[in-house]
Amino acid sequence: MSRPLLFLDVDGPLNPYAAQKERRPEGYTTIRVALEPGRPLRVWLHPGHGSVLLGLGYDLCWATTWMDAANRWIAPVVGLPELPYVDFTGALFVERPDGVHWKTERIVEYAQGRPFAWVDDEQSTADQEFVTAHHAAPALLRHVNPRLGLREGDFDTLREFATTPDTEA
Ligand SMILES: [Mg+2]
Repeated sequence: MSRPLLFLDVDGPLNPYAAQKERRPEGYTTIRVALEPGRPLRVWLHPGHGSVLLGLGYDLCWATTWMDAANRWIAPVVGLPELPYVDFTGALFVERPDGVHWKTERIVEYAQGRPFAWVDDEQSTADQEFVTAHHAAPALLRHVNPRLGLREGDFDTLREFATTPDTEA
C-alpha cells in the first residue's frame, strides 16, 4: 500500500517567520543560516515537529525555496531524515499570469497522480483550481499562517486526510 505524499514548505509552516519580531515562539529554537555572504538568516524551528510529521502517514518531500539545502539546515534541527525535494530550478519566484503559485505546477508534476497534501503559507484559490484541474487523485492544500507555523489543528487535518479511504491508494 502506497502512502500519500506530504509536500513541506519551510518558511511559514516550519519556520513561523512572521511571528512577532524578537519573540521566539514557545518550544522553538533559533538557527542562523548563511546561505549567501552577508547577514545570516534567522530561522525558528521546532525540534519536535519531525517526529510528528513522520507519524502522520505520509511520504515526506520538501517543497521549498531551500530545495536540497533543507536537508542540510532544516532536517537535523526538526528531527527529520534526509528527504527528497521538488526541484524548482527555473521556476523559483517566477510569477504566472494566471495567478497560480510558481510551486504548484512542479508539485503536481512531482506527484504523478499520487494523492498528496501540501502545507504552505502562500497558496490561493488559483492553486486549488489548478490542482483540481490537473490532478485526478485527492489533494489537500493546507494553508498555514506564517505567524503561527504548523499547529495541532494542522496535524489533525493531515492525519485524517492520510487515512481517508480514497487517499490510501
Ligand atoms: Mg513559505
